[in-house]
Amino acid sequence: MSAMRDASEAGSANSDGEGAAGGEAVPVLLPLPLAGAYHYRPPPDQTVQPGDYVTVPLGPRQVPGVVWDAAAARPSASGRPLRLREIASVSDLPPMPAARRAWLDWMAKYTLSPPGAVLKLALPVPAAFEPEPPVLAYGRGSAPADTVRLTPARRRVLAALEDMPPLFPNELAARAGVGSGVIRAMVPLGLLVAHWLTPGVASALPDPDHAPPTLNAEQAVAAAALREAVEKAAFDVLVLDGVTGSGKTEVYCEMLAAALRTGGQALVLVPEIALTPQLLARFAARFGVAPRAWHSALKGQERRRLWRAVARGQVPLVIGARSALFLPFPQLRAIVVDEEHDTAYKQDDGVAYHGRDMAVARAQFEAAAIALVSATPSLETVANVDRGRYQLLTLPSRFGPAQMPSIDLIDLRADPPPPAEAPGERQFLAPPLRAALAETLAAGEQSLVFLNRRGYAPLVICQSCGYRFECKRCDAWLTEHRRRRRLLCHHCGYEEPTPKACPSCGSVDSLTACGPGVERIAEEISTLLPAARLAIMTADSVRGAEAAGAMTAAIAAGEVDIVIGTQMIAKGHHFPGLTYVAVVDADLGLRGGDPRATERTYQLLRQVAGRAGRAAKPGRVALQTLRPDEPVLQAIASDDREAFIEAELSYRQHAGMPPYGRLAAIIVSMRDQAAGYALTRALAKAIPLSRDPYGEISVLGPVEAPLALLRGWYRWRFLVRATRRAPLQHFVHEWLKLVRIPTNARIGIDVDPHSFL
Ligand code: ADP
Ligand code: ZN
Ligand code: ZN
Repeated sequence: MSAMRDASEAGSANSDGEGAAGGEAVPVLLPLPLAGAYHYRPPPDQTVQPGDYVTVPLGPRQVPGVVWDAAAARPSASGRPLRLREIASVSDLPPMPAARRAWLDWMAKYTLSPPGAVLKLALPVPAAFEPEPPVLAYGRGSAPADTVRLTPARRRVLAALEDMPPLFPNELAARAGVGSGVIRAMVPLGLLVAHWLTPGVASALPDPDHAPPTLNAEQAVAAAALREAVEKAAFDVLVLDGVTGSGKTEVYCEMLAAALRTGGQALVLVPEIALTPQLLARFAARFGVAPRAWHSALKGQERRRLWRAVARGQVPLVIGARSALFLPFPQLRAIVVDEEHDTAYKQDDGVAYHGRDMAVARAQFEAAAIALVSATPSLETVANVDRGRYQLLTLPSRFGPAQMPSIDLIDLRADPPPPAEAPGERQFLAPPLRAALAETLAAGEQSLVFLNRRGYAPLVICQSCGYRFECKRCDAWLTEHRRRRRLLCHHCGYEEPTPKACPSCGSVDSLTACGPGVERIAEEISTLLPAARLAIMTADSVRGAEAAGAMTAAIAAGEVDIVIGTQMIAKGHHFPGLTYVAVVDADLGLRGGDPRATERTYQLLRQVAGRAGRAAKPGRVALQTLRPDEPVLQAIASDDREAFIEAELSYRQHAGMPPYGRLAAIIVSMRDQAAGYALTRALAKAIPLSRDPYGEISVLGPVEAPLALLRGWYRWRFLVRATRRAPLQHFVHEWLKLVRIPTNARIGIDVDPHSFL
């Protein structure tokens, strides 16, 4: 979040409303990082009410906004003359309900963000308020075809419309192979009629009773609880906790069905857009039509149409990434947060928020039921179950004959990878892993090799002089992407071609890749098993939902023998032929000073392991490690989740870390290092410890952030730690008011941080 500022461009045009005659002034919240709502006059002969979507003048521009509640108005700058400008237009959309406005206000306070910045999340399509103009289409006219002379071209036009709804002019011209002149000339003859169509979204509605599955006993109990929660039409949080392959998706579909039966809407949040194609296909099989998908890749017109249709209540079921949480459903009855523990739900920049937590809050404000679904629920969720706030539903076993896989640790110290044949090269796969890949291939089954590192190698150094390739804008090494022959920064996107010679000492062929990335593992496997069909699945190699869908379909169809992938492959996918899963570096997530690192490693590795043996054939999992005694790895290998949770929760409790304590990260960034340091010192001096007489809040830092330089900005961190009942947000708010923040500084506030970079 950048420091709050006032829109000086609004100038006197937006004086404060206090004292306006007859309560004429209407507060309008704008989707901008402003301190509060501005006042406007309603348009002549029109009344507006809170929640109305409006367009208003701001300086020379017209901007969208929402008529807000009186309490939200900016404090008065008294004594100024009132020259209120007028609301330019009021949208025909149904107004934003009071509960939604209250939720957004709450979220602004919770995340310590300007209310307008939060509103911006809910108004992602600025042009959405204006209705789309109707579009022209042609259908067959009533003139009997034998009364007019029919040229071959005209015949083709009529044939193209045979059994068709009206077609757009360009579509009709293309199908008939004629020019637009031919079509236009047919209208006055009565051969064609013009239709003006209102653009909309596809109208087939999901049918809750299209193809319900026959649930087993455990599933039926969970489904009934979810259904009842929806039917109560009250706020309720249910945790659907079941091993991978236990049928969680089938079960939560019953919750969606219950919401559809009430005539309200249902929303499914997924952490990763790559998951949507497979889920859309499953939902289409269950409900007869696929739900609508909302994600950042939706463009222009499509985005606008879908948003408007949602606001009008025409879209009963949406599946989407984090940003779908802000869609304007008129009556949301059910929310599902699939893979609720996933860190992709956390947004770190701009308004820093956790999608799962904000979803729970939305359900509370709008009296909806919400299901948090996971095979490895977050410790926050586990703690809320323990506190009796969330209701726990469990699916303890896999559906049908599928068994949980057996999990082995490969101790790399005892069983190191064989040396490479080429001098200066290295290999990364230990003999047991190599043998298992070969056996699985021979049996005609599939393997997944997991390494959470994109590219070929995470670091390139010069063997002659020790030079390391570093990003010039970040405190980070450049990753080699050998297929593209480029060096990339994974933090800021900077890239350069891989040079032939060392830029420091000029030696040729002295550059060496250090450590493995997925490309390098793929190279090693193709040398080992030249006949195997390999696929690499990472965010670089598979771009966008469509490519991801095609890739997962190919894997599911058995067109690939060995998949090598990053965390993109770990989640949700269901591959019936996959029987062996190998994790190249199980220690990877355990490094670094992140208090959630252990939990994340546990979840990720459990989830990867869950890909194995999901159909009739049993699965095997192997984790390569240098630290086989690490408690997390022991808990995974012995499949003892309770032991892991207990150990980790007691550590967190002892350390006052979430879910027992609360954190807020304050990140100071400036391009000028000296000025940034001075500002950080000033903030440190201003820490108002007097505001915390009970010692329930402490401030750690300042320290240089682990990424001390990011995209050219120098960064320092404070970490505020508080007990659960301490007024954390109030404390931070009061503290930051004590120091003047220069306009060229950024103060990032992250309440409940998940990233510690
Ligand atoms: P999860 O979401 O827990 O990983 P899924 O819902 O994907 O589990 O179920 C795993 C597999 O078992 C899927 O292929 C699913 O269609 C199948 N399955 C689960 N429950 C049933 C059921 N009651 N009837 C038929 N198939 C089921
Ligand atoms: Zn060198
Ligand atoms: Zn960089």
